[in-house]
Amino acid sequence: MASLTPIRRIDGLRDYVRGQRAEGRRVGLVPTMGALHDGHLSLVEAIGKQVDAVIVSIFVNPIQFAAHEDLDTYPRHEAEDLEKLAATCATAVFAPSAGEIYPTGFATSVAVEGPAMGLETDIRPHFFAGVGLVVTKLLLQALPDLAIFGEKDYQQLLVIRRIVSDLDIPVEIVGGPIIREADGLAMSSRNSYLSSGQREIAGRLNLVLRELAEASDPPDIAEAKAHDALLEAGFSAVDYACVRDAETLALPDKRTARRRALIAARLGDIRLIDNMEVR
Ligand code: AMP
Repeated sequence: MASLTPIRRIDGLRDYVRGQRAEGRRVGLVPTMGALHDGHLSLVEAIGKQVDAVIVSIFVNPIQFAAHEDLDTYPRHEAEDLEKLAATCATAVFAPSAGEIYPTGFATSVAVEGPAMGLETDIRPHFFAGVGLVVTKLLLQALPDLAIFGEKDYQQLLVIRRIVSDLDIPVEIVGGPIIREADGLAMSSRNSYLSSGQREIAGRLNLVLRELAEASDPPDIAEAKAHDALLEAGFSAVDYACVRDAETLALPDKRTARRRALIAARLGDIRLIDNMEVR
C-alpha cells in the first residue's frame, strides 16, 4: 500500500494535475475537511470509477465557521486520514495551510443566493459564503475534470452546482449518495462529539426523516409531526424539518416534479443534518 505524501502548496497541486493531464489521465477532486469516515471514502471510490487520478483535499476551512462554532475543536486526524486514503484509489492528497488558501491581504468573497437562501442560511448566515469561496478556489486551483460532493449536505451540493454554473467553472459536479451507520444515522465527522446517550437519540433522526418523506399528510401537517417527533425523541431543538423542491429548495407546489425532505436538529451544541428523496 503506497503512502500518500500531502501536497501543501497550490503550485504543487497544479504541477500534479499538469503531469496527469500530460499522460492523458482524467482528474477527479474530492473536497473534504478531513476526519475521514466511510462517507468520504465512498466519494473517493465513486469518482475513481470515472477518472484516472483522484485528488482528495483536506482543509478545515476557517471562514465557514462562525466565531461561536467548533473551528478549534473540529476533529483533525491527518495521519489516520492518510492511512485510510492509502487503502483507496486516491492518488494524491492536497492539504494546504490556512495561510496558503487565505494569504495576508485576502479580500475577495463569493456571494450566492438561489439555493443558498433559507434552511442552513437561516441558522448559519455566514456558511455558504465560506463554503462557496473555498470550493471555488479549490476547483480553480486543481481544475479537475470532475469533483464530487455528498448528498449528505444536500443544500451545499445545490449551492456548488449553482456557483459552478454561474461562474462558468469548467468542472463537472457529481453527487454521491449518503452513507449511513447501521441504525441509519448519516455518517459525519461531528458524530464523534456525541455521548452514548446522544448517539442513541441521533439514530432516531433518520426514522423521523423517513416518515416525513413518506407522509401522505399535507406538507404543513407532516412537517409539524416531524418537528414534534424529534423533540419527543430527545432532540433539544429543531432548526427545520421540511419538504422542498429537490432542484431549487423552494417551497413545493403542484408543478414540483421532485421533492426532498430535509431535517436539521440539535442535541445540545451538536447539530445533525440529514435528507432524503421523496418518492
Ligand atoms: P466534510 O468533510 O464534512 O466537509 O465533507 C466532505 C464531503 O463529504 C462533502 O461533499 C460531504 O457532503 C461528504 N460527506 C460527508 N458525510 C457524508 C456521508 N455520510 N455520505 C456521503 N457523503 C458524505
